[in-house]
Amino acid sequence: MVMKILEEIKELLPSDAKISSILFEGANIVLYTKDRDFFLKGGSTVKEIVGSIKKRVELRPDPSILMDSEQAEIKIREVIEIEAGVDQIFFDNERSIVIIEADKPGIAIGKQGANLREIKEQTHWVPLIRRKPAIRSKLIEDIRSVLYKNSSERKKFLNRAGRRIYDGWIRDKKHEWVRLTCLGASRMVGRSCFLLQTPESRVLLDCGIDVANDKEPYPNLEAPEFKIDELDAVIITHSHIDHSGLVPYLYKFGYKGPVYCTEPTRDVMALLALDAVKIMRNEGREPIYTSEDVKEMVKHCITLNYEEVADITPDLRLTLYNAGHILGAALVHIHIGNGLHNFVYTGDLKFARTQLLEGANWKFPRLETLMMESTYGGRDNILPNPKEGDRILGEIIKTTVQRGGKVLMPVLGTGRAQDVIVMVENLISTGVIDEIPVYIDGMVWDVTAIHTAYPEFLNKNIRNQIFHKDNNPFLQPYFKRIGSQKERMEVIEYGGPCLILATSGMLVGGPSVEYLKHLADNDKNALVFSCYQGEGSLGKRIQNGLRELVTQKGTKQEITPLKMEVHKIEISDHADRKELMGFVNKCSPRPKKVIVIHGESSRTLDLARSIHKQNRIETVAPRILETIRLK
Ligand SMILES: [Zn+2]
Repeated sequence: MVMKILEEIKELLPSDAKISSILFEGANIVLYTKDRDFFLKGGSTVKEIVGSIKKRVELRPDPSILMDSEQAEIKIREVIEIEAGVDQIFFDNERSIVIIEADKPGIAIGKQGANLREIKEQTHWVPLIRRKPAIRSKLIEDIRSVLYKNSSERKKFLNRAGRRIYDGWIRDKKHEWVRLTCLGASRMVGRSCFLLQTPESRVLLDCGIDVANDKEPYPNLEAPEFKIDELDAVIITHSHIDHSGLVPYLYKFGYKGPVYCTEPTRDVMALLALDAVKIMRNEGREPIYTSEDVKEMVKHCITLNYEEVADITPDLRLTLYNAGHILGAALVHIHIGNGLHNFVYTGDLKFARTQLLEGANWKFPRLETLMMESTYGGRDNILPNPKEGDRILGEIIKTTVQRGGKVLMPVLGTGRAQDVIVMVENLISTGVIDEIPVYIDGMVWDVTAIHTAYPEFLNKNIRNQIFHKDNNPFLQPYFKRIGSQKERMEVIEYGGPCLILATSGMLVGGPSVEYLKHLADNDKNALVFSCYQGEGSLGKRIQNGLRELVTQKGTKQEITPLKMEVHKIEISDHADRKELMGFVNKCSPRPKKVIVIHGESSRTLDLARSIHKQNRIETVAPRILETIRLK
């Protein structure tokens, strides 16, 4: 079938443009030309096409007119000034793109893009400048290299994804229906997963694992509405396991479509999934998916920046907005059926500004239904303000260090951990506490490295420090990486007073449990909880008063008394009750309906009732497996 949109484009192209192929890259349309002149000067024609079809269109050279990549690399290094600090250069032959990593992207681009133009003219490659991460992580580079190494396969996948979007493309409003089915995280926290359906589309919003729940860790994918071979797209709000942990499993079971998320979410979610495989192996369990499935997921990611609009099926248009929760976390806005309905799903949200991030976006072009989280939705879920929390944490670190103890903070790999890193840097640089080693265990380190690769996702304050003052808070020498069990034991046995940041945040597997086993029976040490503790997790049981750790050594059980101080400072990456109500109040336009999810039952119901009472908006708190008709 010849697609209508391609016909329209062909009619607008001049006859001598020598277009060798027109391919999709997701919702973007790419024209490849064999004509050097048209490649360099065809900009105005492309503008006309964009104006007419209202889609993003890009002009690239056919691979046959590209300069040989070795020669091109030499040229590129000649053109870009030495001060730009050009590092690695990657050539994506299939797509005629060259990715140039630089310390100073602004300089690399040149005045008003002069360097980019010159590279294009001299080599015919399409240059993309990317910031070089301040901290290199082998793991992250391996993840990204999956994309380069599978360039040809990826080109085909992106074209397929585009064909699905434009197949059945119409300009008019659709008078149809929209339904939403709750497959998880309804009147509970964990295993977030929702299925959005229209006559045309089937899209999954998040697909997480509830790691604290032994009995029902996964979303209800056996629901009759869900058919994996009919799934058009998966949208992931953020990388936390309870929102993204099951995505590789979809690929294991034959899903071949795209995952939409931000770049930091893609990197961190891959990292966490690989870590989950490792943890399951270490615990002697058969992993539910393998690193090959994780690779498939990475290959199928289509990343978007905040506020970049993208069609994802013939009748759904997606925009991601800052959610303020963790690096790259997004609120999902879906414009359905050319204006039939507008839906926002918050994922996890933080409305207040934090050490790292701006508060969540609250302004949308249109909005009818808002689906929001309620982790801290109960009327008494008021968290200490972040400044006060930072002060208390500073005190705990100070007194623990003074008595010669170690502070262990179990953290989620991403989020509060990096907040704490920035905060501790602040305490040390302002002299509030003495310099102590801060041990950052394996994965937390890699996630921190990702933060340095995407500073544009951080708040203005930190961006300023990094860009203009050359004072990157993540790069202090007292932050030390711990990468192996041997290094861990050295910290435990020989290391002096220190702060240790390790996963998992709820003490469910991972190095935090290893540290705990060894630090527990010394009352000089302190354990500081920093995130939400799921029902049934070891963390929750300790918070509820458990003072003995039982570990299995072969057939014998060993009991360690828990003598270390236990503190809880939930400076959360989540909005508390006040912020959640503030978010609804400020939301513009005002939603007509609010669906409350992702919270313990009583909190969800309480928030739903309060929004209904105070804002006079229809609210609903669905149970798992319920379906709501939005339109
Ligand atoms: Zn989260």
